[in-house]
Order: sequence, then structure tokens, then C-alpha cells
Amino acid sequence: MHESEKTPLIVVDDDEATRKLLQRQLELAGYQVRAFNDGRAALEAIQTLGAGMVICDWSMPEMDGIELVQALREMEELHVLGHVHFILLTAHNGKERIVEGLKAGASDYLTKPYHVGELMARIAVGQRMLALREELLHHSLELQKTNAQMAVLAGELDRLANTDGLTNLPNRRCLFEQLEKSWATADQTGQPLSCVMLDIDRFKSINDTYGHATGDTVLKAVADAIRDHAQRTEWCGRLGGEEFVLFFPGSALAAAAQAAEQLRNDVAAKPVRSGEHRIGVTISCGVAEKTVVAACADDMIRNADAVMYTAKENGRNQTWAYADDDQAHPVRNGVIVAAEGLPAATPTTSVSRARNRPPEDRVESTHAHIDHQ
Ligand SMILES: [Mg+2]
Repeated sequence: MHESEKTPLIVVDDDEATRKLLQRQLELAGYQVRAFNDGRAALEAIQTLGAGMVICDWSMPEMDGIELVQALREMEELHVLGHVHFILLTAHNGKERIVEGLKAGASDYLTKPYHVGELMARIAVGQRMLALREELLHHSLELQKTNAQMAVLAGELDRLANTDGLTNLPNRRCLFEQLEKSWATADQTGQPLSCVMLDIDRFKSINDTYGHATGDTVLKAVADAIRDHAQRTEWCGRLGGEEFVLFFPGSALAAAAQAAEQLRNDVAAKPVRSGEHRIGVTISCGVAEKTVVAACADDMIRNADAVMYTAKENGRNQTWAYADDDQAHPVRNGVIVAAEGLPAATPTTSVSRARNRPPEDRVESTHAHIDHQ
């Protein structure tokens, strides 16, 4: 350790001769010394100067060495002062007194008359301990900083893992996680839960006609419309390809059907601008609700998917609902058309047919490009 790096020392003794002798010996050894004749004056100085090393007499009239070290340790505990290495210097040499001094908070103990060599050696030990503490503190601050950075990164990773990169909507993984939670809550509370599956009509031909960049613009525009429509308590996201899903905790089929129709009308009314093109975009929606028949969230999604396919087969830009009669019902003017209003069942409106459509038309993974056309 260089002389200049030595901790400044504070010497406290009410006996002038001892104080001056100590100061001279320490200064000769290369230390900067501040000397005080009383504990109170030393305490005030330490509060201003900060932590370091104190060599202190035990018996003093105003504030003795024990009271001083106790005051310093209290400040340390309150984090208003760093660590002080406190060497108690006294004529008391009984073992009980040494124990008492150390218990009060002294770091070390030396009896008068002291041996100069021993005093210097003990000061050097104190210096090493202070340096080690400093190093530990530095490492602990670095660690805290690293932990804070890691927490930010973990948050960002989590966001990325749950977000669709193109539309910034929750992705399939996040949606299904949320859906499972909402399903469990609905199971517990008996509250309804419904969902809307939607698919951009003729998306493949948009891509083929205008290119993939425009296709992406259309996907983002539909995502924005969905986001605008979703209330705080509702969930929406991109399942993959041009398929999206919304689900409505607390809402029954009729409310979800109404919401789907509003969204469908809004999308149809607002052509998407891409360069010089204004592209008319429509969506087909399928609505389903959690029922006693739908045993799990996947069943409900499958039902919504089936009636969305029915909407496609019946001309697209429509909303169909999977009602509790296990049939596909069209939604007109925001209202689910009752069974007696339905045209005679045809293979195209049959839910069972939609269920049995070929596997390549079903959503199996985020990588699947689903083109219901
Ligand atoms: Mg004294």
C-alpha cells in the first residue's frame, strides 16, 4: 500500500502527552492524523470526515471511548456512516475489560503502555480489513447493478417470448397460457367465457398481388383494429399466419358475437393503404363459448375455428357462431340468428364437416401458415 493510500487516522485521548506522542509516532510512520481530546469532538469530526480508523482512549470526561464506539456503530447500522475500524487504547488490562470493550463494538484492543511496533502492526491489520470491506462493497454494488440489468433483460426476453414480432400482439404461446388461466377462473366462478377466431379473407391473393411487404402491412392494420376493439379485460393475439383470436372472460356467446361483428364491420369499412394502393380487407369470424360440452379451452377454440370456416364457405366477410345446439348460426346485425331462421342445413353450414376438414387446414403450430382463403 502506498503512503498516500493510507487511511487517515483519528486519535482521541484526553491526556495531552499521550495524544501528542501518538500523533508524532503515527505521522512519522507516514499517516495523516487528526487528534481530539474528547469523544464528542471526535464524533462530530467523524460525521463530517466520514469513516476510517480511530485509535481511542477508554476513559475521557465528556464522552468516553465506549460511548463513542457505540455511537459510531449505531450510525453504521443506520447507514449514515461507513465502517470505522476502532482500536481501543487503555490502561485497563483485565480480561473482563477487554471483553467489555470488544462487546461494545471495538474492532481491536491495545493496553497502555503500548508497544509502538505492535500498534503499527495492528493499524496495518485494520487497513487491510478496511480495504477488504471496500472491495466487498464494490463487488456487492457491481452485483446489484448486474442483477438489475439481468432483471431488465429477463423482462425483455419474457416480452419477446410472448409477443408476435410483426404485430406486437400477444403470440400463440401467450394467448393459450392466458386462455388456460381464464378457463380455470371461469370453471371456479361459473362466469361465462367466449372467444372469436378470425381470419383475413383471401390473404394469399393479397400477398400474391401486392407482395409480402403489403401483406405484412395488412396484417398490422388488422392487428391494430383488433387492439383498438379489445377492452382491458379482454385478450387478443395472433395465432399465426393471418389468424387471430380474441377471448372475452365474463362474456357469453351473444356479447362475443356482437363484438366480432363490430370488428368485422370496422375492418371492412377501412381500406388499408400501402404505397399507392388502397386495399379492401375483410375478415371472417367464428364465435364460440365455454359450455359443458366444450371440455377444455382447445375445444372452444376448435368450435370457433369450425364456424369461422363456415363463414368462409358461405361467402366470407361474415360472422358465424357455434351455438349450444351444436350448430353453426350466422350473426346478422350483431345478433345470432335463431335456428328457425336458418336455411335448411346444407353440407357447407355443417359444423361436423368443418370439424372433419383436412388436417392441413387446421392450426397446429405457430409455424403453420393457415390459408382459409
Ligand atoms: Mg483518559
